Amino acid sequence: MIVELNKNLSPAETNEFCRKLSEYKCNLLWKSDKRLLLEGDFDLLTRNLKNFPEFGRTEVISEKYKLVNRKFNPGGTEIKFGDFGFSEDSFNIIAGPCAVESREQIFKIAEFVKSRGIKFLRGGVFKPRTSPYAFQGLKEEGLKLLAEVKEKFDLKIITEVMDASRLEAVSEVVDIIQIGSRNMQNFSLLEAVGKKGIPVLLKRGMAATVEDYLMSAEHIAYHGNQNIILCERGIKTFETSSRNTLDLNSVTIMKEKSHLPVLVDPSHGTGIRDKVIPMALAGSACGADGLIIEIHNEPEKALSDGQQSLTFEMFDALLSKVKQVICVNNKSLS
Ligand code: PEP
Ligand code: MN
Repeated sequence: MIVELNKNLSPAETNEFCRKLSEYKCNLLWKSDKRLLLEGDFDLLTRNLKNFPEFGRTEVISEKYKLVNRKFNPGGTEIKFGDFGFSEDSFNIIAGPCAVESREQIFKIAEFVKSRGIKFLRGGVFKPRTSPYAFQGLKEEGLKLLAEVKEKFDLKIITEVMDASRLEAVSEVVDIIQIGSRNMQNFSLLEAVGKKGIPVLLKRGMAATVEDYLMSAEHIAYHGNQNIILCERGIKTFETSSRNTLDLNSVTIMKEKSHLPVLVDPSHGTGIRDKVIPMALAGSACGADGLIIEIHNEPEKALSDGQQSLTFEMFDALLSKVKQVICVNNKSLS
């Protein structure tokens, strides 16, 4: 049960309050200044609400995920970066290469992204690769390049962190931390980004149900961070004609069940360059709050995910079509 408090409780009042709650077979699971999350026998508690003058509105949440539940924040969460951000009413595109490969490459792509009015640049520097022989990213050197492009082009930067040991250093440079599909249930990493408070793009695990996924987001929120952006990036199914199966059902379900912004990643969702635009449009039509798209100045030479990276020309085509589609949801590109 979520409880809105009429007043801030001092630590002593909270202790007394918890003691009283336990008499009604309820426990405090989580608290912020103005809200509490309780578990227990709500019937008993509700019958005795008069004994708790500090209680305001109460609402029972039956799903396992509580803090990321739509009922916790019915109006939807806004993740702001100055005068723009991710929200129910806006639409944002994050674009950039799968991986930062060189100064020349990331500068060319950043310049293009900026020229198209896009505000968020992606670029992996610590890459989770299936093969240890594949390009693993430029690591610290790549992070320095991200710092340089951020400064030069005034773009918001997003990059993946694979383990908590790198979180401090990466957070000093970037605006959004990406937690990749393979790490969706890396609970110590979720705890670390939760405590850090920095905006997080949490990608759906490739074999995670929507409930598993929202429970991972719940870990981040539980540790103090509500600045979470969800991202459908495709799941593993028996289908082999595309890299993953982009589960757009999940977008509509997550929008209903959670207050967090939801993006679609048609690049990893399809793994096929020619399929990225149609699935980006489908994701935009079904109510996503934005897209994350891999682009490259020379996709055929890319060191990772070239086969699913759009050329600049294709990205222009995507932009003009997406602008038309998002009107149906009363959204416009920020
Ligand atoms: C990526 O964004 O490049 C990436 C590795 O994504 P995912 O974790 O969804 O595979
Ligand atoms: Mn990639």
